[in-house]
Amino acid sequence: MNFSALHRTEILNQLKSKTFDLLIIGGGITGAGIALDAASRGLSVALIEKKDFAFGTSSRSTKLIHGGLRYLKQLEFGLVKEVGSERAIVHRIATHLVIPEKMLLPLSEGKSMGYWLTSIGLKIYDWLAGVKEEDRRKMLTRPQTLSAEPLLKKEGIKGGALYAEYRTDDARLTIEIMKTAVKYGTTAINYVKALDFIYDTNGQVVGVNGKDELNANTFPITAKVIVNAAGPWVDELRQSNNSLIGKRLHLTKGVHVVVDKTLLAVQQAIYFEVADGRMIFAIPRGAKTYIGTTDTNYQGSKDEIFASSEDVDYLLKAVNQNFDKVDLKRENVESSWAGLRPLIHEDGKSASELSRKDEIFESDSGLISIAGGKLTGYRKMAERVVDMVIEKHFSDRQLNSCSTNTILISGNAFKNYQEVVRYRMGIRKQLTPSGLQEQANYLVSTYGTQTDVILLQALQAGSISEESLLHSEINFCINNEMAIQPDDFLVRRTGWLFFDISKLRKVQSQVLEFYKSKFGWDEKKLDGFKQLLESTLQNTINW
Ligand code: FAD
Repeated sequence: MNFSALHRTEILNQLKSKTFDLLIIGGGITGAGIALDAASRGLSVALIEKKDFAFGTSSRSTKLIHGGLRYLKQLEFGLVKEVGSERAIVHRIATHLVIPEKMLLPLSEGKSMGYWLTSIGLKIYDWLAGVKEEDRRKMLTRPQTLSAEPLLKKEGIKGGALYAEYRTDDARLTIEIMKTAVKYGTTAINYVKALDFIYDTNGQVVGVNGKDELNANTFPITAKVIVNAAGPWVDELRQSNNSLIGKRLHLTKGVHVVVDKTLLAVQQAIYFEVADGRMIFAIPRGAKTYIGTTDTNYQGSKDEIFASSEDVDYLLKAVNQNFDKVDLKRENVESSWAGLRPLIHEDGKSASELSRKDEIFESDSGLISIAGGKLTGYRKMAERVVDMVIEKHFSDRQLNSCSTNTILISGNAFKNYQEVVRYRMGIRKQLTPSGLQEQANYLVSTYGTQTDVILLQALQAGSISEESLLHSEINFCINNEMAIQPDDFLVRRTGWLFFDISKLRKVQSQVLEFYKSKFGWDEKKLDGFKQLLESTLQNTINW
């Protein structure tokens, strides 16, 4: 199966000509996970995404594969056990992309987390998740806590805890899972929107009318079963299916801001309690540190969500109140992102109190919708949906059982993290003659072993230079990752919009020109994409 932006017509033709077993609406982590699970069991699968893959919440999270310590406080033991155990599995199947990260939890006088209760809580957390002995939580004394993080304000610190989590790149994880689903036969496409549903004479859903967002053509896509994995948009589709009854989504907005690491030089990821009792992360990533998140009810446009100045001020104040000699100001914020949590509404509960558990709804017309959940739990969510689809519709078929806990995602051929480190050292060596060795870390954590393909193509252009490497990287994303537009590349394939805005500024005209020549765009089309990119940039840096 193909996942190249250059073969869009071919992929569209497949969507138009075939009746699939399963059609998934939504190309976030939930949709990608379901596609991989279903295709690897032997179903024929199609997936459509109205914007780019991971355009929604799946590129706007805290980017942690974590057990959700705070859910323990809410006594959600089942959720903690499931997502906690999933961490090691997701690390194994995406070793270069899901990286172990020790989290420091400082404990202070007068805050809601007491020393002994936290010690017991973390022990339960490790036990529920089956964490290996060497990774289990370590309680720290006050001097140990302050030496682990010298930037912390000293007054009131009683001690702390170090526990194991993983950090990732949510958009890359989604895209690599999607690529792996395509390897297993999924027909997946971005920029195709499900407009409304098609029904048979018994009133059962048998397809959608899809709209190609690049040229406004509409066409039917048919399937035996349809899954709505549209994240924050799930209820829009349920509404169009006349099945928005009973439980509904409750959207809450979460914002993150990025500053240069020199301004908040934390030694490791840190999870700290702020004045209003909420918990905030500060996470180092390359040359930057990102801080988040907020959690506020949201009713605005789901397609255009940005940080507001109040969100930014809240996060900066939280940092300034908890770290010594740190005085972050609005002008220090280089970039930001805002995402929507597609949670299930519960009467009388505030944004932070709502459960993160996923739920599956089936309408009378057979539409299956899945909402809630977490990035970390995507694989188990997918397993539940596919089990249900098979039990109800394909129980007469000989299908494989779920094996996504052993399917390595594309770019991962590593047995463990030490192998990733060794591979990275090799890439560093290869890049040293061209002076680009500092890119090794970015390339390996972004593309894993696919870095070889990118370097080889750059070499074939003569030699490895900044320009040949950039061209080779864009080509790779167009040919293998369906990066249709410059912003697909600059935002969700590379993450430069968030974590390397100066590089984005430096290369944006080159990227636009490359796309222009590759796709034969005229000046008018180029201008349209220039404006799109500029407005994305402005919304990220001006709030
Ligand atoms: P989405 O990623 O939103 O995907 C849905 C997709 O459907 C979108 O791309 C959208 O464009 C598409 N779509 C909508 N309508 C249509 C249509 N009509 N036709 C075609 N396509 C359509 N979880 C963690 O495990 N770890 C974290 O650190 C973490 N941090 C978070 C921080 C924040 C601020 C937020 C908001 C969430 C966080 N989460 C985290 C939760 C996690 O990010 C989400 O649960 C997950 O990304 C949801 O994925 P999804 O695929 O269901 O939705």
